[in-house]
Amino acid sequence: MSINDKILKPSPDALEKAANSIRSGKLVSFATETVYGLGADATNGEAVAGIFEAKGRPSFNPLIVHVPDLNAAQKLVYFSPFATKLAEKFWPGPISFVLPRKDDCPVSELASAGLPTLAIRVPSNEAARAFLQAAARPVAAPSANLSGKISPTTAQHVADGLGDKVAYILDGGDCAVGLESTVISVQDDRVTLLRPGGISKEELEAVVGTVEVAKADSEISSPGMLLSHYAPGCPVRLNATDKKEGEAFLAFGDGFDRISDLNLSETGDLKEAAAKLFAAFHKLDAQHSSQIAVAPIPQEGIGAAINDRLKRAAAPRN
Ligand code: AMP
Ligand code: MG
Repeated sequence: MSINDKILKPSPDALEKAANSIRSGKLVSFATETVYGLGADATNGEAVAGIFEAKGRPSFNPLIVHVPDLNAAQKLVYFSPFATKLAEKFWPGPISFVLPRKDDCPVSELASAGLPTLAIRVPSNEAARAFLQAAARPVAAPSANLSGKISPTTAQHVADGLGDKVAYILDGGDCAVGLESTVISVQDDRVTLLRPGGISKEELEAVVGTVEVAKADSEISSPGMLLSHYAPGCPVRLNATDKKEGEAFLAFGDGFDRISDLNLSETGDLKEAAAKLFAAFHKLDAQHSSQIAVAPIPQEGIGAAINDRLKRAAAPRN
């Protein structure tokens, strides 16, 4: 299919095609009022891994999950009465809320990068909401640009950067806001600004009073603050080819059958491994092993992002 055939104006027919593609695990770029998003079915781990692969992101950071309305959001995360009030005030619109995942939240752990929270947003762009309604499932979507490039604000920008990686691009014209959504976390009645964006700090403060500003990422991850990275509770040993006393062994590929406790991908599929990584850590963590030994992961394609995360997990803790 030529790239021009992939760019669709959001007619009902086009929305249905795009929604079907999302449901079958493909990537669809769609216009929102902030920037063009690179969307995947958030409940499908391999589809979410496809986002990181397509963007060439060197690391897994948590993604924003998009839903058509507050009701859909409330099925995924816990809204305190205060968070509900804020959502009613600012949604639909260019602001994402980081809230605790519900126990039965169907969103892939990769979309949360293993964190117990999920960033969620209801966009105001009409076509985006119609698309999310048609998709009938949460859609994980970072900006639709290659890693390191600037965010796209027209369908052509997306076509130039990621045209061969998406099934469709829903062309909603130029983005009205043109910069990313504001990201806030809401804990009790405290609001912390994690990323400035389409809704200003002043607009927020007019509604909530004081807004704290999160310090640089490294400080957010310090104890007591928002964890920006998940790591297992026990030490992690990398590039392991044997299993020591007391260890749990996390395999990749078919060479470790005798010692494997869990396999990221028996067929050696890196996308499958990315999709399973955080869930695997949580599972092995719960077994209270003294250490998790991880088989070597090839440093190619999305393997680089897997190894980045493994290295962080294995780094000495304070
Ligand atoms: P992007 O999807 O590229 O627009 O970026 C999403 C932004 O939201 C990044 O700055 C993330 O660090 C932030 N974010 C997403 N989920 C979480 C979360 N669970 N906790 C903290 N920050 C988050
Ligand atoms: Mg981006």
